[in-house]
Formats: sequence, structure tokens, C-alpha cells
Amino acid sequence: MPETAPDTIKQIVIVGGGSAGWMTAAALSSMLPAHAVRISLVESEQIGTIGVGEATIPDIINFNAMLGIPEAEFLKATNGTFKLGIKFVNWGRLGEDYLHPFGPHGADMNGIDFHQFWLRHLEQNPSSTIEDFSLSAVAAKAGKFAMPDPNPRSVLSQLRYAYHFDATKYALFLRNYAEQRGVRRIEGKMTEVRQDPETGFIQQIELEDGSAIPGELFFDCTGFRGLLIDKALDVPFKDWSHWLPCDTAQAVACELSGDILPYTISTAKEAGWQWRIPTQHRTGNGHIYSSSLMSDDAAIDSLLKDLDGPAIGSPRKIRFRTGHRARLWEKNCVAIGLSGGFLEPLESTSLFLIQEGISKFIALYPSADLPASVRDEYNRQLVKKFEQVRDFIILHYKATERDDSPFWNHTRTMDVPDSLTQRIELFREAGRVFRYEDELFSKPSWVAVLLGQNIVPKSVDPIVGTVDRAGIARSLQSMTTAMTNAVTQMPTHRAFLEKYAWSGASA
Ligand SMILES: Cc1cc2nc3c(=O)[nH]c(=O)nc-3n(C[C@H](O)[C@H](O)[C@H](O)COP(=O)(O)OP(=O)(O)OC[C@H]3O[C@@H](n4cnc5c(N)ncnc54)[C@H](O)[C@@H]3O)c2cc1C
Repeated sequence: MPETAPDTIKQIVIVGGGSAGWMTAAALSSMLPAHAVRISLVESEQIGTIGVGEATIPDIINFNAMLGIPEAEFLKATNGTFKLGIKFVNWGRLGEDYLHPFGPHGADMNGIDFHQFWLRHLEQNPSSTIEDFSLSAVAAKAGKFAMPDPNPRSVLSQLRYAYHFDATKYALFLRNYAEQRGVRRIEGKMTEVRQDPETGFIQQIELEDGSAIPGELFFDCTGFRGLLIDKALDVPFKDWSHWLPCDTAQAVACELSGDILPYTISTAKEAGWQWRIPTQHRTGNGHIYSSSLMSDDAAIDSLLKDLDGPAIGSPRKIRFRTGHRARLWEKNCVAIGLSGGFLEPLESTSLFLIQEGISKFIALYPSADLPASVRDEYNRQLVKKFEQVRDFIILHYKATERDDSPFWNHTRTMDVPDSLTQRIELFREAGRVFRYEDELFSKPSWVAVLLGQNIVPKSVDPIVGTVDRAGIARSLQSMTTAMTNAVTQMPTHRAFLEKYAWSGASA
């Protein structure tokens, strides 16, 4: 039995009020009673936020649920729409596309992954695509949406989704949530970080108006500036730009045109790629590119040429560096959001990494003496998460046959992390995929991108090689029939939104 209750932290200071700052404030205020822990958040309207970050992955649903946020209320407040996956255009080869859907392909049989059966089926049915066996993909292509059915016997239980939304409105929504739970918002520009001369621990931050805000624990949510973790604590940055060479984005919204698609589109271009993210009121667009291979003017021209509605305002340039802080928790400072690292938005993982930073912190919530063992474990888990996501993103650049520009010639021929090489080789041999530790991306996600970018296994799993083809064909046929029927019954994405999200009422 523990001998004493530990000393608890009484003052937490969050510096920065973008998505990272307000997600942190909202989560902490939902866990920690305001009378026991004073949480302050400092932000500067004069500096503003990054203002992009519209696409998510399904884990965000858990974050909102943890806060007890009603989904329809959240969608209404953030102009949110539903996202069933990402369509990748021109990535493997020019003129080709594939969907990385959320959720499984088909159903595993006798403990063997579904894609193995599909690969055996493919041998005699070369026009079959694995997407035809993903309910999320079939619904996405039909522009339909419905809620997953909690009954595991229903084919609708296979649906997984995330959101597209206005990230600035999300931060505002969470700000209201956190302030109602006692978080004190302080408007002002931080100009100084005071540290203990002996330990280097942060004692207080100081604002332009001369006020000081002391704390025991600080969250650096200052975005790419990294004012605490970098400028004050000088934690080195692990640079991954040799694997992820894009370093600049031009972002612009445009007017909605046509249907509101329930998926993101990512189109590979000459020296990078372009995103298209539909929210309720507009479409977010951005062209991400390597500035050493494309000028800003050329990038802007290419972006504007490929909008599918009139631009709203002018493109905004954002510079970034891919990688992460060697330690995300240093002394009494935890870096969450862009201050901690950035892996480019190809698989919409930044808000997820913020969420991970917060939930791992809560799981390891420290006593007031901030034990080094807790810090080390936090850093180990977060760095692992960054590395796992990194490998998945690099796969999109590496697994290409494009040879039409210096950018693709570089990514196609570059050396990649050993962990990724091993995965690709294992898949190429007999289609084997594993999910390591509590890694984010599931087997179907890896399969979708590997196959989508033309890495086809030399053979199927030898066990599946012994299974009767006719039986497989019958199972696959009944799966597609069930999916087609289910999708036929679903409302269009727009109709679903009108009923569910625009009115703020439950479906
Ligand atoms: C091009 C691009 C596209 C992206 N797309 C996606 C996406 O689709 N999906 C996704 O999940 N993520 C995406 N992201 C990432 C996402 O935008 C960020 O992870 C998220 O918005 C969190 O940002 P942040 O809060 O860390 O930083 P910011 O939004 O930059 O906030 C920093 C905060 O710190 C404050 N601050 C800074 N200096 C001071 C100071 N001296 N004093 C007081 N306050 C200060 C600012 O005022 C601001 O409030 C994208 C990022 C980029 C660059």
C-alpha cells in the first residue's frame, strides 16, 4: 500500500492558443478540478494561429467523447463534414488513383487477413480492386454517409469515419469549453522565459505588459516558434526533411462547388501534392512542395489552376520543417503541437499527435516533483509514435513509379528507414502486414497504400494458397452484395449533414 499521497501540481501554464493549446486546456480542465489545479492559457491575438488543419482521422472522435462533446453540436460549431478516407491521385503512377478508406476491407476468415483471400481472388480476376470490399470506400465513392451500426453483425458496423472542419472554429469551441471549466485565458505576448539558474526549470513567463505568470508545469503550444522547448530549453530537433522533402505550403480556401465529398483528395504534383478538403461552407486547398524544386509563383499558379471553385482571398504561404524535438518533455515543459514536431499533413495526423501528447501525459500524470522516470517514459512513447507515423507517410513518397520530375526521382530512389524497408519487403514477399505495439495505422491502412501504390505481393500467404478459389469467390460476392445494398440505402453525405449537423440535432 502506498505510504503517502503524492504532492500534486497546483499551477499549470499553457503558452499558445491554437488547436494544441486549447485541446490541452480542454482535456486538462475536464480531468483536473479547478479548485485543486489552476490552469492558465496565454495567447496573443496579435500573433494569431497557423489557421490550417482541417482534416482528421477517426481517433478525434475519442477525444471529443472523452470531453463529453455532443457530435452534432461540435459539427455545427466547426462547419464540420464527414470524412471516410483519402483519395490519392497520381501517387503511384500518373493517371491512377486509389482510396485509403477508414475501417477494414472485407472480413478476416479463420484468423487470416482478408486481403490474403482477395489476393488469391485477384489471380483470376485482375480487374478486382480491394476498395470494392471496404464499406467506407464504397460509400465514399457514392457520395453517401451513415453512422456505423454498433451491432457487429451488421455490415454497417464496418464503417469508420473522421471529420473535415474549420480548425480555428474548433479551437474557439474548445476555448469556451475550457473557460467554462475554470481555465483562465490571458491575452498577451510572452517576451521572457525565466528559468532557475541551477536546474534550468522554468519558473515563470513574462508578458509584454510586464506581468509575470509563474507555474510548476508549462506546456509549449507556441507552434513552430517553439518558444519554450527550443528558444529557452534548447532541445535539439530531429530533422526528417531528407525523407520528407516538402517544406512549404500555399493554402487558400475556395467556394464549394458540386457535392460535398465525404473524403479528402490528395493529388500528387510535380514537386509535392495538393489537398482538397470540403467543409460545410467552403473547400480548403493547399499545395505542399519542396521549395528547392519549385518557386513560390509556380506553386501558386498550380494551386489556383486546380481549384474547383473561385478562390476566397489570396494564397497564404507557410514554411515548415519535418521532424520532431528529440525530447518532447524537457524539465518542466511539455511541447504539444507544432512546437513538438510536424510530419506534414498527408495523412492528417497532426491533430492526432496533439491528442496523443495529451492522452499520454494524462496517463503518466506526474506528481509535483516531476519524476525523471515519468518524463523518460513519455518521451519514449511519443517519439515511437512520431516514428511510426513517419514511416507510413514516407511510404507514399517511396512507393512510386513516377519518374517525370526531379522530386519523384529523389523520393523513389531515396533510402528509407530500415523499419519501412522491412515492412515493404515483407509485404512484397507474401502480403504479410503486422501492426506493431499500439501503432496508429491498422493493417488495412498499410494494405490500402501498399497496393494502391502498386506494391503487389509475389505470392499469397501459403496457407491461403491451399484454399478453394470458388469458395473465396462466393464469400467475396456475398460481401460486395451486402455492401452495395447497404450503400444504396444510405443518404447522400449532404442530406445526412442537413439533417444531422446543420440543424445541430441528433440523427
Ligand atoms: C500546411 C499545413 C497543413 C495542415 N493540415 C492539417 C490537417 O489537415 N490536419 C491536421 O490534423 N493538422 C494539420 N496541420 C497541423 C495543424 O495545423 C496544427 O497541428 C495545429 O493547428 C496545431 O497548431 P499549434 O496550436 O501547435 O500552433 P499554432 O496554431 O501556430 O498556435 C500557436 C499559438 O501560440 C501563440 N503564440 C506564439 N507566440 C506567442 C507569444 N510570444 N506569446 C503568446 N502567444 C504566442 C499564438 O498566438 C497561437 O495562439 C497542418 C499544418 C500545416 C503547416
